[in-house]
Amino acid sequence: MFMSAADYRESLRRYSPRVFIDGHAVESVADDPRLAPGIAAIGISYDFARNPDHAALLIARRNGGGAVPRMLAIDASSTDLLYKLEAVRLLCRRCGCAQRYLSHDALNAGFEATQAADAAHGTDYHQRFLAYLERVQDADLALGIAMTDAKGDRSKRPSEQANPDVYVHIAERRNDGIVIRGAKAIVTAAPYVHEFLVMPCRRMRAEDAAFAVCCAVPVDAPGVTIAARPAGRPGEAAAKFSARYGQSTGIVLFENVFVPWERVFLAGECEEAGLLTTSYATHHRHSCIGARAGFGDLLIGAAALMVEANGLDPEHHAHVRDAMVELIKIVEGFFACGVAASVYGPIWCSPTSASFCSRPRSTTCTGWRMIFPAASWWRCRDPRRTTIRRRRPRSPPCLPGAPTFRRRIASRSPAWSRI
Ligand SMILES: Cc1cc2nc3c(=O)[nH]c(=O)nc-3n(C[C@H](O)[C@H](O)[C@H](O)COP(=O)(O)OP(=O)(O)OC[C@H]3O[C@@H](n4cnc5c(N)ncnc54)[C@H](O)[C@@H]3O)c2cc1C
Repeated sequence: MFMSAADYRESLRRYSPRVFIDGHAVESVADDPRLAPGIAAIGISYDFARNPDHAALLIARRNGGGAVPRMLAIDASSTDLLYKLEAVRLLCRRCGCAQRYLSHDALNAGFEATQAADAAHGTDYHQRFLAYLERVQDADLALGIAMTDAKGDRSKRPSEQANPDVYVHIAERRNDGIVIRGAKAIVTAAPYVHEFLVMPCRRMRAEDAAFAVCCAVPVDAPGVTIAARPAGRPGEAAAKFSARYGQSTGIVLFENVFVPWERVFLAGECEEAGLLTTSYATHHRHSCIGARAGFGDLLIGAAALMVEANGLDPEHHAHVRDAMVELIKIVEGFFACGVAASVYGPIWCSPTSASFCSRPRSTTCTGWRMIFPAASWWRCRDPRRTTIRRRRPRSPPCLPGAPTFRRRIASRSPAWSRI
């Protein structure tokens, strides 16, 4: 059984991260009112996954059958992408920003990049990554994605910086693991996650190899310090929504943090570090379509309440109706782009597994093939010949439990359903 929001909040007591807000140390993350709106927002993703009405969207299947939270699942089909899109929209409609979908995006990118690294370098990162993924899924963890580096002088590459700590890098390689140093800025939900997934934020050249590092670090690992903002606007009576749900972001400092090898997923593989970054960005753009659509639904609902509160009726006031329709057009218009990307996006399949990928793979990955799931053909990337075969067209996947457009509109407010 997955954690509830209350279980998640309790689980934070098992960690003792070093957190500062406005320069003051936080005694207990789970009890600090300045972080409560952020913990409440992440809690929505936990409670909704246990709600039978939402389970179809928020629970996915692991390769092999077991149930896993959608926010920690690896996408293997168009249907997975569509479900994730709807799931993120559903969560963000309730809490503004569910924050946990970043975990999904990073895990999918890690799945892809570790496979590519093994294919190119004969390493065993993918098996390590799969073992870590299973632990994260089974424990139903919340991950912080520590990707964007502090960067320092933007005109210089990581290895050219006067202070190398402006990018997280490998400071030492040991028999039992690596030691990392540097600053990530900024990390969503940093104070109230269980672990950080540390990832590179740009393409690396050979001279930047020490900066091409991906690994998992518990939030309270020795040497980790978090300097964060309060989540939302806690305690402000006028902030009706932001006092309840919000997002903290933090600068995360890694000062000689030891990471054992089983938690290291890239250590100097520059090409795959770039792939990891771009793959994460692609998954994140897709998830953010769902997130912004959910936030758009909130704004539309708020607009409908304002219309009501001002005694206006869109049926009789065309300028109000036009403004509301414009809002709907914007939100449903970009959400449709996410649906199209889910259906027409290519899947790259290795000989043994499938996951979504951000860009054409190089021919060094012999045996990989690209599938367009909703189209009636696939292309075989055999370097010796390229064939195009016809496939039987599939009917588009349906989303059990996903509200229809009409039901979504009707659920916003009485005034809204009349428009
Ligand atoms: C609410 C929020 C949540 C976030 N959450 C996370 C998270 O969870 N994890 C994470 O890793 N990151 C997170 N980020 C960070 C985010 O990804 C970065 O802010 C973003 O990638 C931009 O990086 P930057 O802020 O360093 O800006 P920069 O890269 O410095 O860019 C600033 C501007 O300068 C321009 N620029 C940069 N370099 C040059 C150059 N050499 N020459 C000319 N122009 C240049 C850019 O195009 C841009 O317009 C979050 C950001 C926000 C706002």
